[in-house]
Amino acid sequence: MMRCESYDVVVVGAGAAGVTAAAAAARGGAKTLLVEAGPIPGGELLSGMAVDGALNARGEWIVGGVARELFAELEKLGGYIGPLSDWRLIWYVCVDPELMKLAVLRLLGRYKVNLLLHTVALETIHVDGKVDGLVLLNKSGRCVVRAPVFIDCSGDGDLAVSAGARYDMGSPKGEYQPVSIMFRMAGIEKGPLFSFLRAHPEHFALGESEAIRGGRTDAQIAAEVERQGEPCFFLKADGPLLGEAIDSGEMYPTALVMVQPTSRSRREVCLNTTRVANIDATRTHALSGALSELAGQVTQCAAFMRRRVPGFEKAEFSGLAPRVGIRETRRIVGEYRLSGEEVLRARKSEAAVAKGSHHVDIHQDGAKQVRIPVDGGGSYDIPWGCLVPKGLKNVLMAGRCFSADREAHGSARVMGPCMGMGHAVGAAASIIADEGIEDVRWLPVSTVRERLRSEGAVLDGVH
Ligand SMILES: Cc1cc2nc3c(=O)[nH]c(=O)nc-3n(C[C@H](O)[C@H](O)[C@H](O)COP(=O)(O)OP(=O)(O)OC[C@H]3O[C@@H](n4cnc5c(N)ncnc54)[C@H](O)[C@@H]3O)c2cc1C
Repeated sequence: MMRCESYDVVVVGAGAAGVTAAAAAARGGAKTLLVEAGPIPGGELLSGMAVDGALNARGEWIVGGVARELFAELEKLGGYIGPLSDWRLIWYVCVDPELMKLAVLRLLGRYKVNLLLHTVALETIHVDGKVDGLVLLNKSGRCVVRAPVFIDCSGDGDLAVSAGARYDMGSPKGEYQPVSIMFRMAGIEKGPLFSFLRAHPEHFALGESEAIRGGRTDAQIAAEVERQGEPCFFLKADGPLLGEAIDSGEMYPTALVMVQPTSRSRREVCLNTTRVANIDATRTHALSGALSELAGQVTQCAAFMRRRVPGFEKAEFSGLAPRVGIRETRRIVGEYRLSGEEVLRARKSEAAVAKGSHHVDIHQDGAKQVRIPVDGGGSYDIPWGCLVPKGLKNVLMAGRCFSADREAHGSARVMGPCMGMGHAVGAAASIIADEGIEDVRWLPVSTVRERLRSEGAVLDGVH
C-alpha cells in the first residue's frame, strides 16, 4: 500500500463540521488534510437549507468564530441573505447554496487546507485506542495517511467506529429520522403569497413557542412575516391545505412543507418536505434506493405548490440538492453524553466549547414530528467531552456523530452547532499537534476555551 504524506491534523468529512474543523486547525498553524468522499466540500451547506441553531429563538447569535467567517465570505460574494425568523420556533441564517460552494472553497483556501476529494476514509490502523494511520481509497488506489491527531466529521462516525468507539443508533425501537432531499423553486411572487398568509394563517405553523409568539395572535404573526419581507413559512400537516392534500393523495404524507429564501435575485426558495423514514443510512443500498422515491415526491410537491399556493403559480423547479440528506445515523459514545433534559432546560457547563439552541426536532414517519422548544428561547452548552470518543487517545469528533442521547441529538444536529463543534475540535487539534500531547484527554478544557474565545467563538452569556 502507498504511503501518503503526513499531516499534523487529518479531518474526515467536509460537511458543516468538517469544513469549520479543518479551517480552524489550519488557522491554528497545523498542516491539515481534509478528506471528502464527494466531489465538492460543503455537505448540507450546499443543499439550500438555512443554517439553524446559529442564533437562539430570541434572535441572539450563539455561534461565532469560523462560522461567522464563512458567512462573511458568502456576504462578499452576494450569497448571504442573513438571519430571519420563521415566526414559528427559530431564527435561521438563509444562504444561497450556489455561492456557498465558492465561499467554502475561499475559506479553506485562505487557511491553506489541503483538500482531498473523491476519497473515502476506509479504515484505521490502530493499537490500544491510538490511531497510527488512516487508510484512504480513491482512483489512485489505497494509501495510508498519518497524523498525531484525527478528527471524525463524517456524520456517521466512520473513523471513530473503525478505531473501536462504541455508538448508539436511532431509537431503541430501531426507528430513524427520515432521509430527505431538498429542492428549489424560482420565480416566486411575494405579494400574492403574503396576502394568502394573512388571509389564511390556519394553513401555517406560526408562533409555536412563546419566545417567538410573544403574545401575538396568528394574524399579527402573519403580518410580522410580511414585514420581514422574505418568503419564510411552514405549511403544517394539521392545517387544512396540506392536511387535505395528504388525505386526498395529492401530496405524500409529510409533517411539513418548509420554505426558506435562497436568492433574492432569482426570487428563489428552498423546500424541505420530502421524506423516506426508517432507513439505516449506513446501509448504502437502502440509502441509494430512497432517491427515486424522493425524486417522485419533489415532482409531486412542486406541482402541489404551483396549483395550491398563491405566488407559486409561475414558479419553476430550479435545483436539487447534490445528495440525499441524512438526519440520523450513529451517535458515538463520548467522554460526556449530552441529554435532552440539558438541552430543553438550557443548561450551561464550565466545560462548554460550543452552544446549541434549536428545539428538539425529531422527524418521524408520515406526518409526525416532535418539536419541543428550549426553555425561554435560550441556548444550552455543548461540553468538550461530547467531542471526545470514549477510549480513543488521538481522535476528536464534531457534527452529527457527536455524543448525545437521541433527544439532544435531535437539537444539536443542525448546522449552527455543528459548525461551533467543528471550530472547537479544529482549534483543539492544532494545539494537540503543536504541543505533542499524546492523549487528547490531557488537554485542559480551559486551554481550548481560551483559544476559542480569542477566535470569536460564543461561549459565555446568552441564557
Ligand atoms: C433533510 C434534512 C433537513 C435538515 N434541515 C436542516 C436545516 O434546515 N437547518 C440546519 O441547520 N440543519 C438541518 N439539517 C441537519 C444538518 O443538515 C446536518 O445534521 C448537518 O449538516 C450535519 O453536518 P455534518 O458536518 O456533521 O455532517 P454531513 O453534512 O453529513 O457531512 C459529512 C461529510 O462527510 C463525508 N463522509 C462521510 N463518510 C466519509 C468517509 N468515510 N470518508 C470520506 N468522507 C466521508 C460526506 O460525504 C459528507 O460530505 C437537516 C438535515 C436533513 C437531512
